[in-house]
Amino acid sequence: MNYQDITNQQRYFFNTNATKDVAFRIKELKRLKAILKKNEKLLYDAIYIDFKKSEFETYTTELSIIYHEIDLALSKIKKWVKKRKVSTSLVNLPGKSYILPEPYGTVLVIGAWNYPYQLSLCPAISAIAAGCTVILKPSELPSSTSSILAQLINQNFDSNFFKVIQGGVKETTKLLKVKFDKIFFTGSVTVGKIIYQAAAQHLTPVTLELGGKSPAIITKDVNIDLTAKRLVWAKFLNAGQTCIAPDYVMVESSIHDQLLSAIQNHITKADYNVSNHNYTQIINDKNFDRLTKLIDPSKKFIGGIGDAKKRIIPPTILKDITFSDPSMQEEIFGPILPILTFDSIDQAIKKIKSLPSPLSCYVFTKNKTLKNKILHEIPFGGGAINDAVMHFIEQSLPFGGIGDSGIGNYHGKYGFETFSHHKSILQKTFWIELNLKYAPYSIKKLKWLKRLIG
Ligand code: NAD
Repeated sequence: MNYQDITNQQRYFFNTNATKDVAFRIKELKRLKAILKKNEKLLYDAIYIDFKKSEFETYTTELSIIYHEIDLALSKIKKWVKKRKVSTSLVNLPGKSYILPEPYGTVLVIGAWNYPYQLSLCPAISAIAAGCTVILKPSELPSSTSSILAQLINQNFDSNFFKVIQGGVKETTKLLKVKFDKIFFTGSVTVGKIIYQAAAQHLTPVTLELGGKSPAIITKDVNIDLTAKRLVWAKFLNAGQTCIAPDYVMVESSIHDQLLSAIQNHITKADYNVSNHNYTQIINDKNFDRLTKLIDPSKKFIGGIGDAKKRIIPPTILKDITFSDPSMQEEIFGPILPILTFDSIDQAIKKIKSLPSPLSCYVFTKNKTLKNKILHEIPFGGGAINDAVMHFIEQSLPFGGIGDSGIGNYHGKYGFETFSHHKSILQKTFWIELNLKYAPYSIKKLKWLKRLIG
């Protein structure tokens, strides 16, 4: 069956209004959770084949996030779907105004490879909660996870409601020719632009969850050891292949050496090794080669020499880095952390602001004024103070970028809103009518209207 036919069938099903029934959505979300729970072993095995991601990291950074997303939707959906009453202006009285959240319709979700389960399924969960039908196109790079997703979804869901289509550039290009009611994309800035252009042909609304270079700014007053510990965890989780990983560090010069030795200490303690399941592989040879080129041996503090055959790059710290180094020219998306220094926070802010707006920004400081200055002056998607990455799991926070790092957001209620159109309604009655707006106009009517509408 071609993609147009699959989409037509989903749209036909959507138009039966079956997905508008909240009980239907609840049933399907419960079904999804049950299928994932029942097949956890298959999910762990597939991702381990793809890039040696351990059960520990797969549970904590993928499955638990998916389960929480489903549980939240199940507990809140009846509230989310309710009409939202808002105020009504004087000229429309007697009358009332309200907003009806309505499902967009048939939506396309395109996933990225680095967290292949949650980046595909969390948007799909939000779409189901909102009452949409879903075509999911996971990334083709982790091929085992893509197949297991296709197998589990396609064998257990009606394809008119929820279907996985596997494929890479060729298939996605074809898919993008079809008109969808919403496209939700997670991936690179370059491909994000392709998606946006394709969506424009059909005036399809998009959410783009993109990437970028997320800075971690560290001032001299911090708890250096704990800062290093949190930073190391956030950076080397999934071997740095995390869209919100701290991409580079800007540390106040006076604590540079102490921070470096604390980072080294925590890397040693973490014992990052694929064989002991504390670390993951680089996804493919292309990324291994790309990352290797970002390591300037003369600036290596620790790490560096990778194993091409096993696609492993050890945690690598680069020092004496400037903004013209190769590692500062693109999003790293791997286990390499360049360390830069600053003496003037104003200069540091100015420099960061001259770069594309990052998806995340992390500020490690005890200085409240400085924290507020950074928060208010640098545009970025979201972030954390005195931590990194952990804001992602806060379901009450919208997750998304700004500028080059993306358009729109999701997670929890924000995901529901992302897949909903907000239909605005003014409701009047027949029992009274003010005749002021009607012709024939008069000075007297205008005077009254001015009083009413200001
Ligand atoms: P990618 O852009 O290469 O691929 C993403 C998806 O787009 C895949 O499903 C792929 O099949 C498809 N695709 C690739 N080329 C295409 C083309 N020419 N036409 C149509 N579709 C195409 O990204 P990736 O390598 O999977 O992920 C890495 C990037 O994603 C990084 O920049 C990272 O920061 C970003 N990312 C962002 C988030 C977020 O939540 N904001 C999460 C994870 C990754």
